[in-house]
Amino acid sequence: MKPTRKSLIAAAIVLTASLAIVFLVNKGKQKHEADIFAMDTYMQITVYGRHGDEAVQKAVEKIKRLEGELDASVINAESGVTLTDGGEYLLKRSMELKDMTDGTFDITIYPIVKAWGFPDKNYRVPSEEEIQKLLENKDTNLQYDFGGIAKGYTSDKIAKLMIENGVKSAILNLGGNVMTIGKKPDGSDWKVAIKSPDTSMENLGVLSVYDKAVITSGGYERCFEADGKSYHHIIDPKTGYPAESGLVSVTIISKDATLADALSTALFVMGKDNAIVFWRKYADNFDFVLYDNKGELYVSEGIADSYLAAMEYEVVKR
Ligand code: AMP
Ligand code: MG
Repeated sequence: MKPTRKSLIAAAIVLTASLAIVFLVNKGKQKHEADIFAMDTYMQITVYGRHGDEAVQKAVEKIKRLEGELDASVINAESGVTLTDGGEYLLKRSMELKDMTDGTFDITIYPIVKAWGFPDKNYRVPSEEEIQKLLENKDTNLQYDFGGIAKGYTSDKIAKLMIENGVKSAILNLGGNVMTIGKKPDGSDWKVAIKSPDTSMENLGVLSVYDKAVITSGGYERCFEADGKSYHHIIDPKTGYPAESGLVSVTIISKDATLADALSTALFVMGKDNAIVFWRKYADNFDFVLYDNKGELYVSEGIADSYLAAMEYEVVKR
């Protein structure tokens, strides 16, 4: 039977209508992405929904600008310290965080980080005397290192920008530091895996979160070997040497990504016992996942129900 003209028109209308419905349904779930290299790390920005492409573009521009503004080598150029408004804010916040963490997070560590060769990857082991001298002069030879807080601060800034641009659902991954904005487009929580320092394990566990930052510090992230010993990039400001606190990986979960970043570094320096004492004081503001060199895992009460791990772990209560 030959199709009539009428039935062809009807079929065309039905097809157009269903395509329009599919288009409208998917519009809310449209995925916009960008991969960039900035702040010495790989970053991914994923935004769902309408106008997501614009938000991604704005985020990339903002990250590039912050990268320039917060780069230690620029801030500490011979002429002294020149800071933008964002830099001024972050300096003030960093000093407050230094007090809060009893000096375990300390951006004035830069001369020592530099002596170990971390910024330019010209790694070396400084002599005992050199470290002593740098420690003694740290408060007069002021040089700032935003490396332990810049990615968290950037996450907060980008999240704010997203919300201002009407974004309801987005996820940022700034070199393993994750920021979630809203929930997934289907309304469920984001699943964020915590990287395992041991290659034998797939991950340390998976967190279900929304509207939160999940930020990890690990000695394994940046280190070098010399004379058969491994040296990593998280320095204990009291000794001038890479922190040997027994912790291997510290993840902080918080609404405040700037806080989470500073605390991931600070708690790594503190070690498990002091980290737990500290958490009990500020438990309303953050949660943690700690992994130590004995292979033991500790998860704070506030996120224990949203944490899924293949291995056993201890839930730390308030
Ligand atoms: P993160 O990966 O957030 O723990 O930051 C590590 C980076 O922060 C290092 O590469 C240094 O640039 C800087 N840093 C190292 N030790 C400290 C410290 N105790 N306090 C503040 N920043 C630090
Ligand atoms: Mg940090």
